[in-house]
Amino acid sequence: MTQYVGVIGYPLRHTLSPVFQQAGLDALGLDVRYQAWETPSEALPAVVTALRVPERLGMNVTIPHKQAVMSYLDRVDMTAQAIGAVNTVAKVAGHLVGYNTDCTGFLQALRQDGGFDPAGARALVLGAGGAARAVLYALLNAGAARVGVAARRSDQATSLIDHFSATAAAAPLALERWGHPDLVTGYDLVVNTTPIGMLHGGDEPASPLAGVDLPPGVFVYDLVYNPSETPLLRQARAAGARNLGGLSMLVYQGAVGFEYWTGRAAPIATMLAAARRALYGSQQ
Ligand code: NAP
Repeated sequence: MTQYVGVIGYPLRHTLSPVFQQAGLDALGLDVRYQAWETPSEALPAVVTALRVPERLGMNVTIPHKQAVMSYLDRVDMTAQAIGAVNTVAKVAGHLVGYNTDCTGFLQALRQDGGFDPAGARALVLGAGGAARAVLYALLNAGAARVGVAARRSDQATSLIDHFSATAAAAPLALERWGHPDLVTGYDLVVNTTPIGMLHGGDEPASPLAGVDLPPGVFVYDLVYNPSETPLLRQARAAGARNLGGLSMLVYQGAVGFEYWTGRAAPIATMLAAARRALYGSQQ
């Protein structure tokens, strides 16, 4: 029996998940198809109900359903509850369980590919949307000493800070001024969670730190993965700062879902190579 996994979202034009997930499934010889299930909001309840048939193993969830999907599931795990968003649904003893794997993917990439341990670090998060929530949760739980948040709408950053201050957040949280020349001063790590610099995005040629002084000792992590070197990463390289793009995070967060659905270790190198080929046209 062929089984199915999918990604739901609306619209789903640029999703890379079918490419690298299918490469992983094929590498293990599994009779599983990973599909894009474009889902407008009114179809969300029906898509979740359809997931209950044995042929369907689970799904990824992307914008705009990451929060709305939670109310249709049988259970939401503690991490996803704390972040307030589900990006992966899998079955546990026939029950639909929601997870957030962005947090794991973010930390794995930072430690493994960036060689940076956030424990004890002072970290600055740029942006205050969905990805920022997962990043903030990850940094706080990984033992960051202090976490700052800067967003163009300071009310959005404040509400994120309020949300995590009300949880068992271990480190002090600070509101920082978006675009201020000294924004990064005093931080060891800066993480861009805005789409600024993304290919075909409205702000493609820009860096979220344009006009901001970048000390060479800071580690710069851009969650944007297309192009492979974003304007922010170029700025970091020019400043002599260590840096990391978002592609490995994307694949690592997907690999966690892969393991929930199939019960098999994800062939990460194969998945990463497939994602690189699809995006950059090479193994670079
Ligand atoms: P989101 O929920 O829409 O949040 C985006 C944040 O960026 C918001 O705070 C938004 O502020 C801000 N922003 C957008 N355009 C801006 C601009 N021109 N100037 C200043 N701030 C701006 O999106 P998301 O889900 O967090 O995703 C954000 C980015 O992270 C996307 O590029 C996504 O591809 C990437 N991402 C990567 C991974 C990975 O695995 N590598 C995982 C998740 C997300 P406003 O509300 O004011 O617009």
